[in-house]
Amino acid sequence: MAAKRASQKKLLQACRNCHKVLDADKTVCTDCQGNALTTEWFGYLVIIDSRHSDVAKKMNIEYNGRYALKVR
Ligand SMILES: [Zn+2]
Repeated sequence: MAAKRASQKKLLQACRNCHKVLDADKTVCTDCQGNALTTEWFGYLVIIDSRHSDVAKKMNIEYNGRYALKVR
């Protein structure tokens, strides 16, 4: 449990609604509670300060976290 393994990108999912990147075992988005999840996504974006990030503003990201740049 304590060991931190590098996550494999292909096992992650992204939310089609808000672009949040989620672990493969999730069935709903932790941000918007939507269930439109997909493994077809590209680009990895980590927001650590959404209030002061231009990228976050551009993508309408309100919360800190991992996001996909493009979702199919
Ligand atoms: Zn979402």
